[in-house]
Amino acid sequence: MKIKSVEFAGAIGQPGQAPPESARGMPQVAFSGRSNVGKSSLINRLLGRTRTAIARVSATPGKTQEINFYRVRADLGDFFLVDLPGYGFARAPEAVRQKWEGYINSYLRRHEDLVGVVQLIDVRTGPTPDDLRSVDFLAEMGIPVLFAFTKADKLTATKRKEAIAQAVKALEIEPDQAIAFSALKGDGREELLETLGALLFSPTEDAPAEDAPADDANADDDPAADDDETGSGEAA
Ligand code: GDP
Repeated sequence: MKIKSVEFAGAIGQPGQAPPESARGMPQVAFSGRSNVGKSSLINRLLGRTRTAIARVSATPGKTQEINFYRVRADLGDFFLVDLPGYGFARAPEAVRQKWEGYINSYLRRHEDLVGVVQLIDVRTGPTPDDLRSVDFLAEMGIPVLFAFTKADKLTATKRKEAIAQAVKALEIEPDQAIAFSALKGDGREELLETLGALLFSPTEDAPAEDAPADDANADDDPAADDDETGSGEAA
């Protein structure tokens, strides 16, 4: 998937508030992670915003408390990138932490347009208790999750591999759900874009059982008639 342009589309500033009108009925992918995990850096790198950052890289960790929506135009179609507030800021009082968590979860609970979440985990620490809480909640909600292991440049290739293998085991996920990412070097960008493209724009198929009977049990939909309806008129 290639990114063509990105624009800020609005924010949710209070629990229970609806996403911006323009995001309704549009595929959304949300980015979740602990404060300071490298989420803003990853989003900026992913969207190709290395000069004029769209997500704020925090000088003050834990400061972003809004859910920000960005409309992204990509070659495969338009989607919304949803930047969730970083959770687990160590210096925030417990009540504040709980409030943020409730607030994030209230968006995730009403997830009819959400196709998946990219859960960020610092490759050096592996999943923290806060991360595990987030992952459990996503599983409970039945939301598909990809894992981006951030700051991958801070470990050698061997250590990085080991760390990710260990996290994959601890999280009980498939290895192809895990992507090593370096906002500094750009590692993982293409892989994450490709995986997100598939998640956002591939029609969901129920994989047929291997020994499916050979009669016409598969004539339900016509893949040839499945072209997108967005006129590819390259809107400026
Ligand atoms: P956020 O709070 O999750 O949005 O995290 P930020 O994107 O603001 O990053 C937190 C800190 O980690 C900043 O000092 C970044 O420069 C640093 N950082 C983020 N991503 C990377 C990375 O891929 N490699 C390295 N070496 N540092 C990173």
